[in-house]
Amino acid sequence: MRFSRPFVAALILISIKLLFSQSASQPVRVLALYSTNVESDHVEFARAAIAFFSSLAHQEKIQFDASANWDELESDRVKRYKAILWLDDFPHTPAQRHGFEVYMQSGGGWLGFHIAGYNDEETHWPWFVNFLGGAVFYSNNWPPLPATLDVDESADPVVRNLPRRFVSPPNEWYIWKPSPRLNPKVRVLVALDPSNYPLGLKDVLLSGDLPVVWTNTNYNMLYLNMGHGDKIFTSPTQNLLLRNAFLSVVWGRRKPG
Ligand code: ZN
Repeated sequence: MRFSRPFVAALILISIKLLFSQSASQPVRVLALYSTNVESDHVEFARAAIAFFSSLAHQEKIQFDASANWDELESDRVKRYKAILWLDDFPHTPAQRHGFEVYMQSGGGWLGFHIAGYNDEETHWPWFVNFLGGAVFYSNNWPPLPATLDVDESADPVVRNLPRRFVSPPNEWYIWKPSPRLNPKVRVLVALDPSNYPLGLKDVLLSGDLPVVWTNTNYNMLYLNMGHGDKIFTSPTQNLLLRNAFLSVVWGRRKPG
């Protein structure tokens, strides 16, 4: 079948108009969820994270919404968000959790920080343990301390432009048993360097694989263990990592598969 030139020209014009009207009426949106009735060090991180990511979103022409209402996860509105951030908490009701499962299984994006990945026998959410790649919270150091982190050498957009090793500002580091690294679908992008052991004073981590940033490649997701206190955004190198992580999930460069 052959189309006349005017017909093709009109078609192109309509396509361009459609493209522009869509981008004009539907900016890429991101939702950051947080709680204020949780550990104060986590609230401080959430406050700093909202300032950091909303400024980055503004530069990138991304609409950034922040809400303390986790029921957003069970509403129809969640579909309009390209990515959801959990800053200092996780959903607690079955309806919120179900909404999140449907959102992620439909291709949604997720960035979770620190306590957002917390799970144990008390949280009763096996889907989420599987989503995290099978990682179960085991222990942490105390007090919060800086740590040397090793960066994976892959070409992943999250770590491509980072040094192979850097010192991360004070954080409460979580260790997981089993480690998510045991799951072939998980890619660990940043891990604690073993030279940090023993890590802690009151609660001491002595040894073991401690992944800090990873993705379960079945989803457009990244978990980052940083998120305790108000010092997290004080390292330019780590800020680059956090920026890369945000943009890689929001622009959907993490191809599920
Ligand atoms: Zn903490």
